[in-house]
Amino acid sequence: MGGGGPSRRTSSGGFGCWRCNHSSANINILCAGLPPGTLCLTYDDGPGRGEGPRDGPGPRTADLGAYLHSEGIRAAFFAVGRAAERHPDILAGLRSLGHLVANHTYDHASRHAFVERGGDAHEQLARTDAAIRPHVDGPVTFFHAPYGDWWLCGRAESNVAAPLNRSPLAPRYPGPIGRDVDGLDVGFWRDDRPAEACAGACLEAIGRVGRGIVLMHDSTADIEEIRRRNRALGLARALIPELRRRGYRFVRLDEIPRVASMCRGAGTHVGLPRPASGMPGGP
Ligand SMILES: [Zn+2]
Repeated sequence: MGGGGPSRRTSSGGFGCWRCNHSSANINILCAGLPPGTLCLTYDDGPGRGEGPRDGPGPRTADLGAYLHSEGIRAAFFAVGRAAERHPDILAGLRSLGHLVANHTYDHASRHAFVERGGDAHEQLARTDAAIRPHVDGPVTFFHAPYGDWWLCGRAESNVAAPLNRSPLAPRYPGPIGRDVDGLDVGFWRDDRPAEACAGACLEAIGRVGRGIVLMHDSTADIEEIRRRNRALGLARALIPELRRRGYRFVRLDEIPRVASMCRGAGTHVGLPRPASGMPGGP
């Protein structure tokens, strides 16, 4: 079962991804419809603001958003709810620059274990939704599961979808959103390696796939040591000019044809087959 079955319109007219039946709960949204050389940049785990020197390591979500804007790029920032509550000004700034603000749960716990322990998945969604909603345009936003934990390990089924399907917020959340390229940044910051080295690895990873949703992190939700070493801004400054030189162009998440159609037509899209490499999201 690869999750490739069509979604069904729900009686309430929802977006038909988390909702509906078991098979469609396993949909993974990837780069379908994007032409080669087209990228969508996404950032997880923020927002964050470093305490050290402006050009030093540490989360720099506001500066990152400004840099991307200066490059004409509109990214998607999947915020952790507890950080969103601390930094509403950063989220407001991202929105004003044309970036999307989206939902990455409140506490950033692995969804599988959280649900198995009896955790309230809807509450995680709703608390974050309340924190980010003032910074979201329109009724629709997007969800990215922490650690990419949407499917049970090694199996094409989800224990996360069912409780989220029951959330009254589900119709607002087409998804889940996956990723086509892992930016590899967390490992580089964990090892305290420079942004330029990460950019080189990221370029190779992008080159192997050639298009799609790229996952990076503007902060680190769980590990303070890695958070302090975050160099997302330096990575962007090293990476984006080189991507431009190589001819890549950039679209916002909701400009991906599959995502755009989901936002327009509630429950009318057809689910994508799960790719061999596809687990949605990353840390
Ligand atoms: Zn995360």
